Amino acid sequence: MTAQTNTTTTTTTVSAYAAPSAKAPLERTTVPRRPVGESDVLIDIKYAGICHSDIHQARDGWGEGIFPMVPGHEIAGVVTEVGSAVTKFAVGDRVGVGCMVDSCRECENCKAGLEQYCLKGNVPTYNGLGKDGEPTYGGYSTHVVVDEAFTVRIPDGLSLDVAAPLLCAGITTYSPLHRWQAGPGKKVAVVGLGGLGHMAVKIAHAMGAEVTVLSQSLRKKDDGLRLGADHYYATSDEATFEQLAGTFDVILSTVSAPLPLDKYLGLLRSEGAFVNVGAPEEPVSLNLFSVIGGGKTLAGSMIGGIQETQEMLDFCAEHGLGSEIELIDADQINEAYERVLTSDVRYRFVIDTATI
Ligand code: NAP
Ligand code: ZN
Ligand code: ZN
Repeated sequence: MTAQTNTTTTTTTVSAYAAPSAKAPLERTTVPRRPVGESDVLIDIKYAGICHSDIHQARDGWGEGIFPMVPGHEIAGVVTEVGSAVTKFAVGDRVGVGCMVDSCRECENCKAGLEQYCLKGNVPTYNGLGKDGEPTYGGYSTHVVVDEAFTVRIPDGLSLDVAAPLLCAGITTYSPLHRWQAGPGKKVAVVGLGGLGHMAVKIAHAMGAEVTVLSQSLRKKDDGLRLGADHYYATSDEATFEQLAGTFDVILSTVSAPLPLDKYLGLLRSEGAFVNVGAPEEPVSLNLFSVIGGGKTLAGSMIGGIQETQEMLDFCAEHGLGSEIELIDADQINEAYERVLTSDVRYRFVIDTATI
């Protein structure tokens, strides 16, 4: 692979959409991008997914947000410049960037490929500070400069628009499903059929598990079955909890709001695991007898490491799994946020960044 030497050596200004302050609507703006360093790639962003985490953060639901904030950590695009020491990528390569753009690279977690759990804290793609001390700005933008070590390759079999959401929704569900061994003979429930949930259904089905969707209503049942679920139940119906008591080996919750955990733990069989990836803004309560009886596990998971993200993309390409998307223009971002908040998304909004 040949490295290109005529890289951008100064900070450039690029178009973006930002929340100027907490809870304010997003608006068009510009942000700086650093010069292309020797191990960096410059990416022409083509598509950016809208994750519910973008909404939590743009509205300061998790606290300590850095404003103005350019959200977006589901980035798919094409490399347009490479630094002199770049070896993995060349100009023209189709690439993705997920939720982090750097980490210490030295701690035991980084060395184990668990950069998301870097003991010194990973550098988030936005709403964080880079190693240069400057705020990071995410994918609702036309270009981004990222170290090649935190850039992944999008396989040819996946088009960039449906691949973008895999960079967060895909890896966040693939990683725990893999770790908790979703596969033949395992009964897996996915709670919440949104951006993460619909990818969890597709991935768990492709892994060979028997998949059940637990959604608030039966409104999206046909979709759920088409995406690969074997069964679909409404959690608004109390009978669901009686009927399915003691059923599942693994329950993966993607719900963005607090859930009554004791009820859901009752759906696990003995020694089953409830794995939570949803990140509600409020704490939840738990009666510990719900895990003691039956020796159950309550676990969590956050995105996945870089190598695992590549593995997930390759898995999705091999199985023909892209996200179900609704492509929008940048001026529809605020409306899309409102729709996500009312669970009116099928199943990921993706911004056509040419409209930014
Ligand atoms: P989403 O598209 O809004 O999906 C969440 C789904 O949860 C909704 O579609 C809805 O599904 C269900 N839901 C919403 N409110 C509910 C309520 N009050 N009670 C029960 N179910 C409810 O969001 P997403 O982008 O998939 O993200 C989901 C959560 O995961 C967010 O909190 C996000 O911040 C978090 N997240 C975590 C990680 C991680 O690394 N752990 C990564 C990405 C995102 P139904 O309509 O089917 O009920
Ligand atoms: Zn996300
Ligand atoms: Zn580290």
